Amino acid sequence: MQNLKNALNQPITIVIKVGTNLLADKECGIQVERVQALAKSICALRSQGLRVALVSSGAIGAGVAALKLQKRPTLIPEKQATAAVGQPLLMEAYENAFRQYNQPIAQILLTKDDFTIRHRYVNARNTFRALFEYGVVPIINENDTVAVEEIKLGDNDNLSALVATLLESTMLIILTDIDGFYDDDPRVNPNAKRIHIVEEITPQIERLARKNISELSTGGMVTKLQAAKRCVQAGITVVIADGRDPSILSAITSGKPVGTVFLPSEKKLPQRKQWIALVSKPVGGIVVDSGAKHAILVKKKSLLPSGIVRVHGTFDAKDIVFIHDEHGTLLGKGITNFSSSEIELIKGKKSSEIESIVGWKAPSEVIHRDNLVIGGV
Ligand code: GLU
Repeated sequence: MQNLKNALNQPITIVIKVGTNLLADKECGIQVERVQALAKSICALRSQGLRVALVSSGAIGAGVAALKLQKRPTLIPEKQATAAVGQPLLMEAYENAFRQYNQPIAQILLTKDDFTIRHRYVNARNTFRALFEYGVVPIINENDTVAVEEIKLGDNDNLSALVATLLESTMLIILTDIDGFYDDDPRVNPNAKRIHIVEEITPQIERLARKNISELSTGGMVTKLQAAKRCVQAGITVVIADGRDPSILSAITSGKPVGTVFLPSEKKLPQRKQWIALVSKPVGGIVVDSGAKHAILVKKKSLLPSGIVRVHGTFDAKDIVFIHDEHGTLLGKGITNFSSSEIELIKGKKSSEIESIVGWKAPSEVIHRDNLVIGGV
């Protein structure tokens, strides 16, 4: 890690995600020793000049213990109330632990909209930048108390991947109660082996994730793999490792062969395309014919009106839309230059006819290549 810092000559950002199963217990509440060990390891990374953001679960778990509930509530208002009780207790534990090292921390509670709505995304990024300039360790959780179904991410694995992408991090470390990703469920098959390095997330790896289910965490390996997939496409290395081991963070950052490492894709998307591919939320869709499909997939061209067959949904210019072929296969997504009603008028027409139809000085492509991402991400 030290060498990497010198080679790039710019600050390295690491995002660490820690799950409820490591932090909270329904009888005793927050496991203070774990929080303290984590704070100590994070401060050691800080002293090497690294920027660290921590995505921490445990609000609902801490709330369950504080309210002396028998189990995690299942109804949304009760869950939200429990998170509201537990979140300050979680932060109190972090504040006490980090204070011993004079390390300032900050609480950041996010919802899905903070990522999918572009100006909120940029705003959040600026706040993180300012916090890092002040030398703060931001501690992030989903804003469970207000996040109803439509704006909920639902699990902190995916949240941590979005944070890692937002911060253009070098690495995302997902700490859990197992020492990595296995080729079978180690709780059932004693011969299951830990996979040390994943060079590419293939469909076979995805099938394995469905077998690696931990009862205690929200999403088990499935959501961890989703998180890894988002990150590797953005050029971020992901490590899944055992958070019960207090020396795990220094082992990972000093390059010891612990956990499972997912190597970043060599075909890293540029920042703007990363947001379109990995974060944005399409509000409608465009269906294209086989000629347009060939042009965007093979010839790497922009999407022109001539190949558009149909429009789905109602959207404005500059919204994000899906692109499908006539058989319903997802081809990609992008930022449209026209609203759905304008596309209804110009579909099947030549680019040279656009201006006279829409009545303004319009671009000749419906989605410019720079705003177009191919694939079903
Ligand atoms: N945000 C939830 C909490 O703090 C945790 C979600 C998760 O574990 O993925 O309790």
